[in-house]
Amino acid sequence: MATAPTVLIMGPPGAGKGTQAAHLVEEYGLRHLATGDLLRTAVADGTPLGVEAKRFMDAGDLVPDDVIIGLIRELVADLPDDSGILLDGFPRTDAQATALDEMLARLERSVDVVLDIAVPNDVLVRRLSGRWICRTCQTPYNVDTKPPRVPGVCDLDGGELYQRDDDTADSVRNRLEVYVRQTAPVADHYAAQGTLVRVDGAQDFPVVRAAIDAAMQPVTT
Ligand code: ADP
Ligand code: ADP
Repeated sequence: MATAPTVLIMGPPGAGKGTQAAHLVEEYGLRHLATGDLLRTAVADGTPLGVEAKRFMDAGDLVPDDVIIGLIRELVADLPDDSGILLDGFPRTDAQATALDEMLARLERSVDVVLDIAVPNDVLVRRLSGRWICRTCQTPYNVDTKPPRVPGVCDLDGGELYQRDDDTADSVRNRLEVYVRQTAPVADHYAAQGTLVRVDGAQDFPVVRAAIDAAMQPVTT
């Protein structure tokens, strides 16, 4: 099987994608491409991409497909052949999934496994209202379920923790609707390809991690 697997992690906002991505990077040496993190960096740096993306992100709407596909196309094209990839937050629409298949095919790669993390909406809303993120390394914390050792400070690098502009009640409500309408159907695309693995993300951190490790086994051994 692939020595350099191509892995997607999908699931609604708050499902635990960023949390489990950190484990996947550490355990399997995957290159983490998280479109949300890339866009937030562009917003913070005030680049033209960031200026264009910010109003969509604040409202909880998707950034237009052509913008995000262009961003990923450049990054994927630059990856070394022997680099495993973890795409987090992309693809989020059918058009993005089709574009990804095309860009991978050009590199003689394809998606090996899609980790589809499911969590009930009431749990997601609670998680997002308590989410704090490290400004430097993006590690997510939670006031209820994963508090940092020192309030407001990242355990890993001492970075400042902040709450995202779009983790507000209105934006979260819209993001959950957008997920059901535009992103959940993308799972069908991968179910049809036979690469989709559903993971119950409402369980404790180590239980979710173990389910993900089990799903990764066929593509890493
Ligand atoms: P996503 O990247 O999917 O939006 P995150 O990984 O940022 O999700 O997690 C959202 C919030 O939920 C964070 O505050 C995180 O600490 C918390 N969280 C993630 N996984 C779990 C879990 N299995 N149990 C409890 N809280 C969790
Ligand atoms: P979450 O962790 O809550 O699932 P992300 O950090 O992945 O959210 O994304 C934050 C926001 O960035 C999204 O609400 C959307 O506005 C934008 N975004 C991220 N990835 C994409 C994408 N693939 N297509 C369109 N918009 C995106």
